[in-house]
Amino acid sequence: MTADKVAPPTVTISRRGADRIRAGHVWVYRSDVVAVEGVQPGAVVLVQEAGGTGQRHADRRVSTTRKLPDKNVRPTRSLGSAFYSSASEIAIRMISPKPVNDIERLVRERIRAAIAYRERFVENTNAYRLIFSEGDSLPGLIVDKYNDILSLQVLTQAWDPEPMRQVFLSELQAALQSRAIVERVDPRVRKLEQLPERESGTIDTRGAMEPALTDRLQGGSRTGTSSVDGSTTAITTEFHMNGVRFLYDALAGQKTGAFLDQRENYAAAEKYARGEALDVFTYQGGFALHLARTCEKVTGVDSSRPALEAADQNAALNGREIEWIEANAFDLLRDYSDAGRKYDTIVLDPPAFAKSRQTRETAIRGYKELNLRALKMLRPGGILVTCSCSYHVSAGDLLDVLSSAALDSHRNLRILENRGQAKDHPSVLGVPETAYLKCLISVVS
Ligand code: SAH
Repeated sequence: MTADKVAPPTVTISRRGADRIRAGHVWVYRSDVVAVEGVQPGAVVLVQEAGGTGQRHADRRVSTTRKLPDKNVRPTRSLGSAFYSSASEIAIRMISPKPVNDIERLVRERIRAAIAYRERFVENTNAYRLIFSEGDSLPGLIVDKYNDILSLQVLTQAWDPEPMRQVFLSELQAALQSRAIVERVDPRVRKLEQLPERESGTIDTRGAMEPALTDRLQGGSRTGTSSVDGSTTAITTEFHMNGVRFLYDALAGQKTGAFLDQRENYAAAEKYARGEALDVFTYQGGFALHLARTCEKVTGVDSSRPALEAADQNAALNGREIEWIEANAFDLLRDYSDAGRKYDTIVLDPPAFAKSRQTRETAIRGYKELNLRALKMLRPGGILVTCSCSYHVSAGDLLDVLSSAALDSHRNLRILENRGQAKDHPSVLGVPETAYLKCLISVVS
C-alpha cells in the first residue's frame, strides 16, 4: 500500500458527530453522517464537519479562510482520518486527529506501540491481549497472544482486504515470530460488516512476511509458521498466568479461547478466597484453578460440557482436584440456596447479559437474582466475587444490584476491591465502551 497521491475520500459528518469526536470519542454513528463521496467500504477517509447552519447541507463547501456572510454559518472543519464502514451503524472510527497519508506506516507504528505497552505493563503471564481495538487506537482489530500462538479477530471492513492483512500480519510476525497465527471468525460480525463469509483457521503468513524474516525461516532456525490458509488442524499450546497453567486449543472454545481480561481478577480473588468455594460460570476453570490454591474445596459450574472438559484437563495439568458440575447456573443456585447449602467463597462471572441498551433491564434482573442467591449461601465472613462484562450495565448499576441484593438477603457487605479489566485490555478515557468489565470483591457478614 503506497501513499495515495489523489485526493483522499472524504466523509462529512454533522455537528453532533463532530462534537462527539471533540469530546474524545472515536466513533461516529451513521445517523451523523451527512455525506459520503467516492468512499470504498473499509477505506481510510478524511472526516470533516459539515459547514453551514448545522443543517444537512452536504454540498455546501465553505473554505476556512473565506469571509462568512453570516456569523451563524460555520466553516467546514477537518477532524482527521478514520476507517469507514459502509455497513456498520458505527460508520466512522477515528484513527488520527490529523490526515493520514500513509496508513501502512501508522498501523505498523501502532502495533509496535501496543507491543511495547504490554512489555511495560503486563506481568506474570505469557498470554495477553496484544491489540485491543480502540484501546490501542487500532479500531476493529483484536489480537491475543497465547504463548507462541496469536489469535486474531477482524471486526471491521478496514482490516479485511488482503493488502491490509499483509501489513498487520507481517508486522506481528516480524515482532513476535509466533509459531502460528489463527483467525477466529465471528460470522455474526462479518454479516453485520457485509464481509464475505470466511472460515476460522490458521493464516498462511508466508506471503505476508518481510523478506528478512522469510530468509531466517528458510535458514532452518524454525519450522514453518503456519499451515495452509483456512486449515483446521488442531493448533495447541500451553500458557500460564499467575503461576497457573492452561491448555490452549486455538480453534476451540469461546472468543479467542480464554477470558484474558480476568487475569488480574483471578489473582485478586485468590488473595481473599478461603474454605469451600463455588465458581459459577467457570468456563475452563479460570477462577476455580486459582481458588484451588487457597481453598479447601472448589466446585466449578458451567452449562458448557466442552468448557468443563477443558477445565478438567487444566485441573489435571495443575495437579488439582476440582469438582465440575454441568448445569444451568440459575437452576443450580436456586436449588442449592433452597437446600440451605453454604460456601465461604462464591464467584459469579456470567456472560454479557446485556448485549444492547434495550436488554439492560432484563440483564439487571439476572444479575440481581444471581447475587441474591449467592449472598444467601455465603457463611459469615464469606467472600463474594461478582463480575459483569456487559458494557450496558455500568459499574454503578452493578453496585446498585449488589446493594439491593444485600438488603433483600439481610446481609451486610463491605467492598474489598472494585476492579475492572486487566491492563492488557486498556480502557481509553473518552471511549467509555473500552471499559466494560466490572469485578467487585466483597466480604459478607
Ligand atoms: N469465569 C470464566 C468466564 C465465564 S464466561 C473465566 O474466567 O474464564 C461465561 C460462561 O458462562 C461460559 O463458559 C458459558 O458457557 C457459561 N454460561 C452461559 N450461560 C450459562 C448458564 N445459564 N448457566 C451456566 N453457565 C452458563
